[in-house]
Amino acid sequence: MSTTLVNPARRRVVITGIGGQDGAYLAAQLLARGENVLGTRRPAAAAPPPWRLRELGIAADPGLELRALDIENAADCRALLGVARPSVLFHFAAQSGVAEAQRDPQASLRANALGTLNLLEALRSESPATRFVLASTAELFGDAAAGPQNESAPFAPRHPYALSKHYAHAMTQYYRAHHGLHASCAILFNHESPLRDPAFVTRKIAAAAARLARERGEPLALGNLDARRDFGYAPEYVAAMAAMAAQDVPDDYVLATGVPTSIREFAGAAFAAAGLAVDWRDSGVAEHAVAASDGRRLVEVDRSLFRPADAPLLLGDARKARERLGFAPRTTAVQLAELMVAAELRRLA
Ligand code: NAP
Repeated sequence: MSTTLVNPARRRVVITGIGGQDGAYLAAQLLARGENVLGTRRPAAAAPPPWRLRELGIAADPGLELRALDIENAADCRALLGVARPSVLFHFAAQSGVAEAQRDPQASLRANALGTLNLLEALRSESPATRFVLASTAELFGDAAAGPQNESAPFAPRHPYALSKHYAHAMTQYYRAHHGLHASCAILFNHESPLRDPAFVTRKIAAAAARLARERGEPLALGNLDARRDFGYAPEYVAAMAAMAAQDVPDDYVLATGVPTSIREFAGAAFAAAGLAVDWRDSGVAEHAVAASDGRRLVEVDRSLFRPADAPLLLGDARKARERLGFAPRTTAVQLAELMVAAELRRLA
């Protein structure tokens, strides 16, 4: 990874958090279009290119440059953007886990709130023509309004992750309104893929389904099986964020499928994709799933995994993105589970 400043003569798009799920998919899409991509990683990140870039086969792409950036350091952000002056800055780097932010709310505040402010301020002073897209979140809605939620639904952030992103979201709007930046917020409902963080529930489910299809072992422990989320497919969401940057007028967009899926339903689909039809038995914390074929236990409920302040349902209304960006999510939750389990089976093989 380069530690020097970037070549100022090269026109490019910057993606913060390129090592994450969305950063990797967006980089792949932009490189395929012939764009130059400068991806930033935390200074502490290990030297080899992130595993997701390797899985997508773009780690050695000549159009890709990786650089360390400490988004919590205002001078570092100014130095990078003052030289790179990108056409677009997609800001994805964040402490992106709700549970992780609950464990370390100060780190969440520094990365998600202060990090975003540092980038906006660096754009204002060094590169005001750069277009900016923030990966904001549907967690801002909390459970204030019955879904489906659109861009006008009230925000009621309920936990440290949502609170830190709320600041980033409001600051992005502020820099748009008061400093004239072409700055937009993508209000992202859950979007998953085989590149999802291994700690996230859908990836945990897919990995366990693949493992238990190949060998006997401990059942998968899950929290609230009734929690319902609007699960989309990450490549479709990053394409919509690229479309947001290309709009003449910056704006905020909900990106969602509008279809709710419970954790129980996603788990059932994942085990079925691995060749294990499941039967659900009992209720409450005693609820569990067994293999329909031989009755062995595959899933059980662990009360310690229930999240405090969790919204029972998040469901989005992406009509505006459909009409203005041509956003048309096609991948269903069942197809998503199939894709994720197939990737886990490949990894195990
Ligand atoms: P992800 O896979 O967890 O990637 C997050 C990226 O941020 C990683 O590259 C990570 O670096 C980097 N990062 C973490 N902490 C950081 C810090 N303190 N300073 C700088 N970088 C840091 O997340 P994702 O799923 O791609 O999501 C992308 C963005 O969308 C995030 O901002 C997330 O909050 C937001 N979002 C995602 C969803 C979703 O369903 N995926 C929904 C709503 C909003 P390392 O690779 O070094 O860990």
